[in-house]
Amino acid sequence: MASARASSRGAAEGGRARFGLNFPHRAGSRKLAFRSLVGEPRPLRLGLMVIDGLHRRLLTELSSVTPVQLNTNAKPDGQDGAEPVAAPDEDLLAQARRAACGAYAPYSKFRVGAAVRAGGIVYAGCNIENASYGLAICAERVAIFAAIAAGARRIDALAVACIDVGPDAAPDERMPCGACRQVMAEFGAPDLSVQVDGAGEFRLDQLLPRAFTLPKA
Ligand SMILES: [Zn+2]
Repeated sequence: MASARASSRGAAEGGRARFGLNFPHRAGSRKLAFRSLVGEPRPLRLGLMVIDGLHRRLLTELSSVTPVQLNTNAKPDGQDGAEPVAAPDEDLLAQARRAACGAYAPYSKFRVGAAVRAGGIVYAGCNIENASYGLAICAERVAIFAAIAAGARRIDALAVACIDVGPDAAPDERMPCGACRQVMAEFGAPDLSVQVDGAGEFRLDQLLPRAFTLPKA
């Protein structure tokens, strides 16, 4: 069991991207592992933490990730049933591309990065696979969940980049999956800006018309 003696907001925040960093429960060191995959390598200050063997093995495996050169050959093109709505936010896209370098994708070799802007702060995420394939998670959800775990409740913009997609790949091969679109709808307004590297910028309600919603209790 992993536990934290102190709520750790102490991980270093040297880069532009910031992350959710409270570890008060057993999932804490897994969140640390996710965080270690995104952005540029930087030292961590974690305070008193107890990490069990399972989490140590995960952290050890993930520590071997090394950045590689980005694929910048993607050609902008609006498809997926929606036209791009505006010029892309290059800064957020750049952070999504950088986050993809931390992806853990030993099975697909398909690295994806995402960056979410919420309350003026950018949170990054990358895809994280598992030998049990169904446990893999997309970069978009990792970034959104990092924002939510840090206290945000609304996201203002999102960018996603698939850095291993072929230069001639169709734009639809770069688009967020349906599950991630639903999670975006949970925390983003219908006009949420969703930038897709190599495909364009879209409104969320273009990507997920008539999203499923429930009234909150
Ligand atoms: Zn997804």
